[in-house]
Amino acid sequence: MSDADSPHDPGVPNDEIPDDEFEPVDVFPESELDLRSGADDCYKCSTCDTNCPVAEVDDEFPGPKFQGPEQWRLKRKDDADIDPSIMDCSNCMRCDDACPSDVPLSQMHNEARAEYVEEGMSKLSVEYWRNRILANYRKGAWLGSKFPRLTNTLANNGPLRKLGEKLFGLTAEREFPAFATQTFREWWAERGGAQVQSEDKRVAYFHGCYANYNTPEVAKAMVRTFEHFGYEIVVPEQGCSGTPMFANGMLDDARRDAETNISSFSELIDEGYDVICSCTSCSMALRQEYPELFTIEGTADVAAHTYEALEYLRIHEDLRGALGDAEIDGDGEDLAYHAPCHARNQGLDRQAVELFRDLDGVGVEDVGDSCSGISGTYGWKAEKYEKSMAIGEEMFEEMEEAEGQTGMTECPTCAMQMEHGSGYEIRHPLEVLEAALVEG
Ligand code: SF4
Ligand code: SF4
Repeated sequence: MSDADSPHDPGVPNDEIPDDEFEPVDVFPESELDLRSGADDCYKCSTCDTNCPVAEVDDEFPGPKFQGPEQWRLKRKDDADIDPSIMDCSNCMRCDDACPSDVPLSQMHNEARAEYVEEGMSKLSVEYWRNRILANYRKGAWLGSKFPRLTNTLANNGPLRKLGEKLFGLTAEREFPAFATQTFREWWAERGGAQVQSEDKRVAYFHGCYANYNTPEVAKAMVRTFEHFGYEIVVPEQGCSGTPMFANGMLDDARRDAETNISSFSELIDEGYDVICSCTSCSMALRQEYPELFTIEGTADVAAHTYEALEYLRIHEDLRGALGDAEIDGDGEDLAYHAPCHARNQGLDRQAVELFRDLDGVGVEDVGDSCSGISGTYGWKAEKYEKSMAIGEEMFEEMEEAEGQTGMTECPTCAMQMEHGSGYEIRHPLEVLEAALVEG
């Protein structure tokens, strides 16, 4: 159904949104893991290095310029091995966004990480299996959600957490996110699926792992809000978006799930559906990482028809008008908003602030443009925990100074880090939207 095949700058009013501002990064013509020509576009300005949150807190991390173009130049001269420091990159993709020369840094990092894991990491090491388990969170979550109360109790047992750190290198400092007693997909089946039918307003929901197993309230808010606007929703078969797999160099695992996702969603696109994500890292994966990393039929179609949920409503509905007429009951809630790095890469970092500033009953304060530091599975690794918290320090301080004591973000792991560092309850913008438009 979409007449706007690309995302847009959220600062532009709805009626002036052009159709064609965002172009996913092209797959390299050489494909087949050969990125060396991309290195030639680098003119060594070091902008990427000055925007790297890991380099900022870790003097030993060589930075994105080395991880990307320099390593590929070295490889061109002789067949040098990938430096192990690639595993210290968190895949936040801020360097990608910062590069003025469009060097495909995160693509280079993802390819380099996969090569390092394949050729330089022992498949018998604890690190490899710890990373593999983290990368395949969906499988563990599927199992854990069969017995959610028992899993939640065991996962947050103090001595067991300490044992997990000692044996597997999972930090004992963080509390495991609770599994919901009913997954989103169970709820969806129980309510009988879509409650709205439409020939011309149709979206296919990519809920990802976290909104299904841990925060179904976010997925339900997406459903109720889109149905409020008259959209027919389908929830097709899907795997993980691949985000934690890219970050851990597990490209074969990511390709397997990407094949499932592309097959499911490209069929629906042919039937007139657009793809909606409630997690900005999932939309990033479908839009940019899939076309950069995989040559699977249908990838370009899925990338061109994928949107973040609020962004989609901004394109197709008068969302600001609706919010201008709405209000949230209560004494006035102040929300400390953090824009995830992957939202930034899609031009969505100001969107929640711009949308909710006209909404009666809430105040929104942007807590700055720093990285939260957790970067998915990164901050769960015992050896990365301190680094992750050092990166997040600026955000924690900004949250402390903000008026409100409730946080807001689109990314589930940024939400974990915000809660961990501040003690605040964290909401998703879709929950605020639902409260204003559906419940209000
Ligand atoms: S920002 Fe881009 S051009 Fe500048 S050093 Fe980094 S990769 Fe090279
Ligand atoms: S992805 Fe993030 S952590 Fe990795 S090199 Fe780029 S800016 Fe640094």
